[in-house]
Amino acid sequence: MMSKIIDGKMVSKEIKEELKEKVSKLKNKPTLVVISVGDNEASKVYVGQKEKCANYIGINYQHLHFDKIEDDKLIKEIDKLNKDNSVNGIIVQLPLPKGMNETKIVNSIVKEKDVDGLTYYNAGLLLNKEKCLVSCTPKGIMELFKRYHVELKGRHVVVIGRSILVGKPMMNLLINADATVTLCHSKTENLEKITKKADILVVAIGKKHFITRDMVRRGSVIIDVGINRCDGKLYGDVDYDNVYDKVKLITPVPGGVGPMTVVMLMQNVIESYEMMHNGK
Ligand code: NAP
Repeated sequence: MMSKIIDGKMVSKEIKEELKEKVSKLKNKPTLVVISVGDNEASKVYVGQKEKCANYIGINYQHLHFDKIEDDKLIKEIDKLNKDNSVNGIIVQLPLPKGMNETKIVNSIVKEKDVDGLTYYNAGLLLNKEKCLVSCTPKGIMELFKRYHVELKGRHVVVIGRSILVGKPMMNLLINADATVTLCHSKTENLEKITKKADILVVAIGKKHFITRDMVRRGSVIIDVGINRCDGKLYGDVDYDNVYDKVKLITPVPGGVGPMTVVMLMQNVIESYEMMHNGK
């Protein structure tokens, strides 16, 4: 029997090799600057993963860390990077410490260097189906659909979660790919009735094993974005073990969506470089 697992770890390795090859042919190395503020433990892990992936692919990686900084001063730092032609991508590692204006700070990044795809400008371009830098997690999920030949046109996709980072860009990418999309959130009534009708179910909630066997449709495709740490282990939002035999394809946690996110960030840095150098 064919495996039902959508292996994001394997796909991300393939893409890493493709990007490494691509970067080796570029005139200069693209440069990514990651900005972090404060002392968030999870952020340290994510920043480390980005550095490792950038080094492997051959992308220049710079990390600007501030223990503490005022919003205006940080925006000035971002503006310097905006004007620096040697910088291709800028990201602000979220969450920022309490009290900082994340929206204002993120939106001070110029759209061409917004490799997290989080500025209003890039979100607006996506809404209008224009070429833009797309948020890395939903972009990674679209790549998994492509590589696993999951047809989206005309299919009913149910997305749970409406964050700016995952749910909303996911919805727009799917609509742009001609899927019929239902977006659910914490105020949705009769969620189970809706999820049972999904050809494809994308879950981005942040609650361990929230989606149970009786909530999924037989033969559907399940994408589990959730990362829930519990007793030193990682769990998804989907009760994987009990759902597995009912569905056609499913992403595991870990090893599904997660590894795709960091590699899509590197792809965005390269796209940004190409836009700056070739006007592509
Ligand atoms: P978020 O900003 O906290 O959003 C969670 C969403 O889930 C909200 O829209 C919320 O609804 C909805 N929700 C909460 N409880 C619900 C319920 N009982 N029924 C239906 N919807 C419910 O989180 P996020 O940033 O999108 O991330 C979601 C999960 O994905 C987290 O576990 C995060 O760690 C993970 N994540 C993974 C990756 C990756 O690379 N794999 C990347 C990003 C995030 P309301 O809007 O009504 O509050």
